[in-house]
Amino acid sequence: MTAQTTNQIPRFRGEVITAQHREYDVARAVWNGTVDRRPAVIARCGGTTDVAAAVSFAREHDLEVAVRGGAHNVAGTAVCDDGIVIDLSAMRGASVDPIQRTALVQGGSLWRDVDHATQAHGLATTGGIVGHTGVGGLRLGGGIGWLMRKHGLTIDNLVEAEVVTAEGEIIRASADDHPDLFWALRGGGGNFGVVTSFRFALHPVGPTVVAGPVFWAAEDTTDVVRFYREFVAGAPDELGNVIRLGTIPPLPVVDVDLHFRPAVAVVSCYAGPVEAGERAVRALRRFGTPLVDLVGPTRYVDHQSGLDDTVPHGWHYYWKATNLAGLSDDVIDIVAEHAYDAASPRSYAAIFHMGVAVARVSRDATAYPVRDAEHNIIIGAAWLPEQNVTLGTTEAAWARQFLEALQPHRAGVYVNFLDSDDDPSRVHEAYGDATYRRLAEVKAEYDPENVFHINKNIQPEATDL
Ligand SMILES: Cc1cc2nc3c(=O)[nH]c(=O)nc-3n(C[C@H](O)[C@H](O)[C@H](O)COP(=O)(O)OP(=O)(O)OC[C@H]3O[C@@H](n4cnc5c(N)ncnc54)[C@H](O)[C@@H]3O)c2cc1C
Repeated sequence: MTAQTTNQIPRFRGEVITAQHREYDVARAVWNGTVDRRPAVIARCGGTTDVAAAVSFAREHDLEVAVRGGAHNVAGTAVCDDGIVIDLSAMRGASVDPIQRTALVQGGSLWRDVDHATQAHGLATTGGIVGHTGVGGLRLGGGIGWLMRKHGLTIDNLVEAEVVTAEGEIIRASADDHPDLFWALRGGGGNFGVVTSFRFALHPVGPTVVAGPVFWAAEDTTDVVRFYREFVAGAPDELGNVIRLGTIPPLPVVDVDLHFRPAVAVVSCYAGPVEAGERAVRALRRFGTPLVDLVGPTRYVDHQSGLDDTVPHGWHYYWKATNLAGLSDDVIDIVAEHAYDAASPRSYAAIFHMGVAVARVSRDATAYPVRDAEHNIIIGAAWLPEQNVTLGTTEAAWARQFLEALQPHRAGVYVNFLDSDDDPSRVHEAYGDATYRRLAEVKAEYDPENVFHINKNIQPEATDL
């Protein structure tokens, strides 16, 4: 393909970015700074018609296709070498119908775009816990966040989607329209087409909620997590919690003396009235001797962006993850033993508390079958680009060893947390036989040639598992 052909995508009115473009290096960069791929063309789409034109162009020229939503997938699947990136980063519109309590969100939106639009009406849906994460990839893989125990996963709130298929057709998927595709879009990732917009259900949340982290010294980890296990067992549905193990981030709200001190934190968000929220977190805040307690009434939108600076674009990242059936004493001991062995003060582990509304949905209702896992751990190695030579290898080894130690306790994996060096069998692990087989059937119908394969790939021919 010549430079001339890449500059000419028929019926395309967006921006075409090739290696000669001054923004090329910025446009090909993704959240994970270890990813360094050079696509032949980046088709920055202005709307659905541009996406359809770009897909058709890719097919005609037999190009590899990557789809860029928020570019946050740690594996860097938003960008490819040589082929075309269908870039949705200019498609970030979000509009709210406060009467129907739904939002229509374009496929390249970030969670901060959605929260900004929905919170203007005191509404929200389950989204990611970092504001600069993309709606597209997160929603298609499942979507876990502060609100999930009360309102379900992000996919459980999906009402309909507009999809550009591998044939370049524009179709709608909902419970009544292409229901097989609608099922697959709720967990099956970017395998079935490019989703140009999502409509999803909203719920009253905030605008003020009780939320924030409490930090304790790393030495207290075993006691804190054992206490936490009992605390969350009786927690109300409204209370979302994440344990974060690592060091205290150097945020402006934290005393400088505490920056980078090894610590365990429980970060909470109560999606209900402030007084009830204060009651719900009281025992947690009184436990032991916290180093710092930042819990209090806060705007939900602010809480949603509170972690943004702890995982910025461009650092180097490497992830390992698994679901955990429970927090047994053994699991807690393994976590306490490994969490602080990272050499980089930016590395961390985070344990999401699942359950309630997540578990209420049956295994086969969506393509996210592991509904009964109580907890989900992500081991996030993170270091600065200039530390790559000194820290890159050791941090990755730390994450792998940590996961290895948890091996006897693994209970499946969340597909969105898989990294590029995770064995392809882990995609299967995320779905299990029955869901994978059904996804393969839908894939065979909507993308039999596997045009959309730069992702956590479902093989269309794998129907005889
Ligand atoms: C800092 C950080 C915090 C995170 N926090 C959470 C969290 O709280 N909860 C959670 O559930 N996950 C979380 N994740 C994981 C997240 O769900 C995945 O990384 C997800 O892939 C991000 O989506 P994206 O659109 O930003 O990524 P991208 O890299 O742009 O996309 C990933 C893949 O999704 C597909 N895709 C994206 N958009 C579309 C679209 N519109 N149509 C079709 N395919 C598309 C493509 O196949 C693409 O390769 C987090 C990730 C990071 C880096």
